[in-house]
Amino acid sequence: MIYLDHSATTPLCEGARQAMAEAMACFGNPSSLHAEGLRAQKLLEQARRQVMQGLGGHAERQGELFFTSCGTEATSLALFGTAYAKKRREACRIITTDSEHPSVSQALARLSEDGFEIVRIPTRGGALDMAALNAALDKPVLLASMMMVNNETGARYDVEEAFRRIKAKYPEAVTHCDAVQGFLKTPFTPMTLGADLITLSGHKVHAPKGVGALYVSKKILTAKRLVPFLVGGGQERGMRSGTENVIGIAGFGGAVAELSPRIKEELAAMESLRSEAERRVRDMGIAVNTPVCHAPHILHITLPHIKSETMLHFLSSEGLCVSSGSACSSHASHPSDALLSFGLSAHEADCSLRISLGRENTPSDIDALCRGLQAGLDRLVRIKH
Ligand code: PLP
Repeated sequence: MIYLDHSATTPLCEGARQAMAEAMACFGNPSSLHAEGLRAQKLLEQARRQVMQGLGGHAERQGELFFTSCGTEATSLALFGTAYAKKRREACRIITTDSEHPSVSQALARLSEDGFEIVRIPTRGGALDMAALNAALDKPVLLASMMMVNNETGARYDVEEAFRRIKAKYPEAVTHCDAVQGFLKTPFTPMTLGADLITLSGHKVHAPKGVGALYVSKKILTAKRLVPFLVGGGQERGMRSGTENVIGIAGFGGAVAELSPRIKEELAAMESLRSEAERRVRDMGIAVNTPVCHAPHILHITLPHIKSETMLHFLSSEGLCVSSGSACSSHASHPSDALLSFGLSAHEADCSLRISLGRENTPSDIDALCRGLQAGLDRLVRIKH
């Protein structure tokens, strides 16, 4: 099996396995004051340091990290936690993009029902429309939530510039970045990003599923601009109640500790595989949807009138795993908003595949992918335009 769907999820790395095995030997509740509880708490704090170090740029001095059950929950904490922190809503405008992951877009749809005004900045061709952003700054902004790397097209948005413009006009605006697809794939620190809140997810970086984190700047914590979304026993310093998933969190820390020191070389290798794949699929007459700026692990292609699912199942029968959309939207019957926002027609979106690379992929995997795609092109029935 050749796995080329790392944007959906990644296999556990050795660092995560080892850390989880160690954590499995400790069953204590981190809130307990006895020795077994303290052991569990130590594991949590070690993982917190490891993930913070992965964020780099002395993130530990500028903010705090709160573990959650997934990236989706971290984003809910960021968005609902900011929206409801302000009792008096002088500003109720929230700026976002038109191609966010559903964890952001669906949460904002709820906030819209509650009276918040949502302004979506277009991302045609994979770039933020800065003129539209400037126009959206005509009224005070409560919150901006923009993803770093699009999970379908691999577009790396210039979130830094967008947040800089927003803060220049409204220094009190809270900035949130969904960095789930960008963490350990593209260089940034909380400072360079200009984000007050950053969403991370473990299973995209070779940690287990079911663990995420929200980075929160000290400025936001001090000003009490964020209120908890899950309330109860007061775990995670009151910011996220519920007994912590110690094993998963330890795995997250172990994975980040293993990946961080090798990141430059691994990403360079991924980028070279990606560009080789891009060159070869273009030569086959397949369109490549290359954003203005892209992450090194995602290649998004549109097949010539072959339904993506037909090709996906064919490739799967040849031992190749790719995706016809993000894993979370693969059950949806409508074309992906992110692809339409990119500029694809509904027909093109229906004929598109995402190939997402990981650290274990090799040049021979790209050979196999190209052989599989060529065989598919030769054998599969084309649909009418
Ligand atoms: N944000 C982006 C960009 C994603 O790609 C995903 C998962 O695919 C998420 C958020 C949600 O993360 P999780 O699966 O940990 O809830």
